[in-house]
Amino acid sequence: MATVHTHDLHFVMFPLMAQGHMIPMVDMARILAGRGVMVTVVTTPHIASRFKSVIARANEANLKIQLLELTLPLAEVGLPEDYNAFDRFLTPEDSAKLFASIQLLEKPAENLLRGLFPPPSCIISDFTFPWSTNVAQRLNIPRIVFHGPGCFWLLCTHVAFSSRILERIESETERFVLPGLPDPVEVTKLQITGFGKAATASQMEFWFRAIQAEKSAHGIVIHTFEELESEYVKEIVKAKEKKVWCIGPVLLCNKDDLDVAERGNKAANVHDYLKWLDEREPGSVLYVCLGSVTTMSTEQLIELGLGLESTKIPFIWCIKKKTEELEKWFSKEGFEARVRDRGLIVHGWAPQVLILSHPAVGGFLTHCGWNSTLESVCAGVPVVTWPHFADQFLNETFVVEILKIGVRIGVEIPVYYTKDGDKMETLVKREDVKIVIEQLMNDSEEGKQRRKRAIELAKKAKAAMEQGGSSYVNVSSLIQDVAQAMTNKVGTT
Ligand code: UDP
Repeated sequence: MATVHTHDLHFVMFPLMAQGHMIPMVDMARILAGRGVMVTVVTTPHIASRFKSVIARANEANLKIQLLELTLPLAEVGLPEDYNAFDRFLTPEDSAKLFASIQLLEKPAENLLRGLFPPPSCIISDFTFPWSTNVAQRLNIPRIVFHGPGCFWLLCTHVAFSSRILERIESETERFVLPGLPDPVEVTKLQITGFGKAATASQMEFWFRAIQAEKSAHGIVIHTFEELESEYVKEIVKAKEKKVWCIGPVLLCNKDDLDVAERGNKAANVHDYLKWLDEREPGSVLYVCLGSVTTMSTEQLIELGLGLESTKIPFIWCIKKKTEELEKWFSKEGFEARVRDRGLIVHGWAPQVLILSHPAVGGFLTHCGWNSTLESVCAGVPVVTWPHFADQFLNETFVVEILKIGVRIGVEIPVYYTKDGDKMETLVKREDVKIVIEQLMNDSEEGKQRRKRAIELAKKAKAAMEQGGSSYVNVSSLIQDVAQAMTNKVGTT
């Protein structure tokens, strides 16, 4: 039987159209290509435009990666053209429509794959692309599911849905213990679904379709590393009854400064930020950033700003969009001037990994997106956790209770839209912001232990990605597995 080798393989990846999914998938593409596999990443023109320079640099380094584009049929689902990605917090109705447009990509994606040369050897697609299981079956290649969040989240949601415990819990906000987990994990019903009071029937139906498609997938790739959550990895292998490869933290593949600085988008003024950080004491700065989608009301941003101001702790605060009222508060009402000597405001996209890995940064106020969580782990930086929606509440529990490297800001209810389209969030007062930030950044014994644990995890993360480390070995095993599947296919045709 002819053997299929690594350099004959062609992996095709379908990331979800969101920064938090695209960024790790592109890192993963570069890791796979670094091992000699050809990789095609398929996404929309809007998302592709942000990754062209990083792919061009990978090509200059002789990595075989290409970006191919598919346009979302937005008009067909009744969405305007600029709703072409999960770049903003969507109403449940708009989110359902965007997922519906992604589901319409099945045929165009299959046509694109049939025209590729060399022909695809496997599909690695986001959990939210259930149709890719059908396409892979028709092309007679494996479909591998990609999960952005880690095994803790995956196991919690698996247990919650498979045990049907949610059906027995009436209150949406009462805490209960999830059965059968390695640790006694307390959650609320709202935190499991992650979408406040607004999760619609069509969202749940889509979720179950994706779970069904995962059941007939060849295996699962998870963006985590075994040493971070070994018990949860073991349990997820048992629960899913299929091959699981933990291949992260993939961000550690970024060795080139430009690649680190431009992860996901181009940040402005990178040198100014680094110079500002160079002038601060080691471990003294708090970095504040709530990811690529989450937004806060002007009232909340002002409370956060006043809380930051009252701590006297140096900070970098990344703000995506400012309303007129906030702009006025920043400039005319003097916030920026008042904090000038110790506060740096980043308008727009921050070079997050670069900032977090600077020795001056000693804490991170995060919304607990899984990438941000892993990025703080890799930098050995403890966190203030301020979850908003989706997997973020469970990630918070993991970071605070299992890893013990975080302090909660104290939000319990996911942000959601009411039926009238009003966005609801729990207001956190400036006094609470101050207390929690000081708790994280101070030199108490508890704070020192938290920092020590974070640094230990950073070492483990690095070791996992180095040659011979668990994630390195898992990437080899994934490639070998697909090569074997292709060898078997050649043998039977
Ligand atoms: N990110 C960044 N700069 C920003 C905002 C976000 O580099 O100003 C990156 C961040 O480093 C992470 C990703 O965007 O890799 C966000 O993913 P995460 O899972 O943390 O949250 P999401 O944005 O999906 O809610």
